[in-house]
Amino acid sequence: MSRVLIIGAGGVASVGFAKCCQNHKVFTHICLASRTKAKCDALKERWQNKTSAEITTVQIDASDKAQLIALMREFKPDVCMHLGLPYHNLIIMEACVACKVPYLDTATYEPEDTEDPEWLALYEKRCQETNMVSLMDYADHQWTYMEKFKQAGITGLLGAGFDPGVTSVFSAYALKHYFDQIETIDILDCNGGDHGYPFATNFNTELNLREVSAPADFWEEGKWISVPPVTEKVEYDFAGVGKKDMYLMHHEEVESLAKNIPGIKRIRFYMTFGQSYLTHMKCLENVGMLSTVPVMFEGREITPIQFLKFLMPEPSTLGPRTVGKTNIGCIFTGYKDGKKRTIYIYNICDHQESYQEVGSQAISYTTGVPAMIAAALICTKEWDRPGVYNLEELDPDKFMEMLNEWGLPWVVEENPVMVPDVVNRQ
Ligand code: NDP
Repeated sequence: MSRVLIIGAGGVASVGFAKCCQNHKVFTHICLASRTKAKCDALKERWQNKTSAEITTVQIDASDKAQLIALMREFKPDVCMHLGLPYHNLIIMEACVACKVPYLDTATYEPEDTEDPEWLALYEKRCQETNMVSLMDYADHQWTYMEKFKQAGITGLLGAGFDPGVTSVFSAYALKHYFDQIETIDILDCNGGDHGYPFATNFNTELNLREVSAPADFWEEGKWISVPPVTEKVEYDFAGVGKKDMYLMHHEEVESLAKNIPGIKRIRFYMTFGQSYLTHMKCLENVGMLSTVPVMFEGREITPIQFLKFLMPEPSTLGPRTVGKTNIGCIFTGYKDGKKRTIYIYNICDHQESYQEVGSQAISYTTGVPAMIAAALICTKEWDRPGVYNLEELDPDKFMEMLNEWGLPWVVEENPVMVPDVVNRQ
């Protein structure tokens, strides 16, 4: 008998909502709140006859704390699943503290306005001190909520999608069952799907392009190393997908795993991209279309990347036309009982199977399913720990069991093919 408030009605929220409807033994009341109420209503229409959960829909501006608090006081959720945009993480966390509502999200806070002086001061200090140049970080923002969440007696889970999220739980599971010491983690995110467009992104366009066009930070021997965006390319042969080019990138779980996996020596994150995607991105970047800084156009202020998002296909509409599979997982090396060991834990997800089940492609599916599982574990008190945590800090076993049960089965492979090291980095 739990009440869940879901914020957002885009690609990921559509799946998170569908999965909460399926898990109606836990989620008896669902409130779906987003900027465009018509999208919430369409989702309710689609699912209300397939669930015993009572569904309400609400229009909300997630950048307005007063609105969030009023909604939480009225609906009285047992958990708030923030499946909207990371720009609003901090404000939603504030509202959760005020109303003592447990919280989860799927992406690390980053500012919408990268010229904001308060954020910029912290960012420049961090770049100087750590050499990590990504726009998103936990240390200066979401991790600072630890005491507030403890005092409110509520659990906050940061990054409860697939990566971060499932990759974080894979790391905790590997440490618990396969290693005494993990030395390296390579996180490999392969999307072998084809949507038929020359250029489209499979999650929020603005966030996707900000992420991919950023320098690639990775963690080695206790420090951050930053290399230029999409410059380190490696080919890898993925189970269920085949050979793909993948590129070193920064990703948020590198920061939390570096803190939470004791004695870790290196963490890298790779994502696959086709040449068409990269050529389009580079061209748009070269003409200034990826800029987050507003410009005046015919007497009106516009932000180039937001205008680009407006022109491009919405990721939530890619479902019917995307075919192929994703393969996302982690390769771990380390020691068990004094012997060297290497394992690969991964999930393969089929775009069309996801679409048939919930009406969304596999990227939204692989993010929305773990978010529902994490929310369910909060509601059933299996993950009840006041404070803010990344998922590798909690016991992984029940979550791993639920991945198999709720549509994301995983595989453990011993002695996988390793990712080659880059020699002679410039
Ligand atoms: P979408 O753009 O499809 O959805 C975002 C939703 O947030 C939309 O419904 C949008 O409303 C709503 N929204 C935006 N601004 C506001 C506001 N001010 N008030 C209320 N609602 C608002 O994004 P995705 O579903 O693709 O991604 C959602 C999140 O998941 C992102 O943070 C993304 O980074 C993350 N993600 C995480 C992954 C992981 O594995 N961890 C993988 C993929 C994504 P409207 O419909 O009106 O535009």
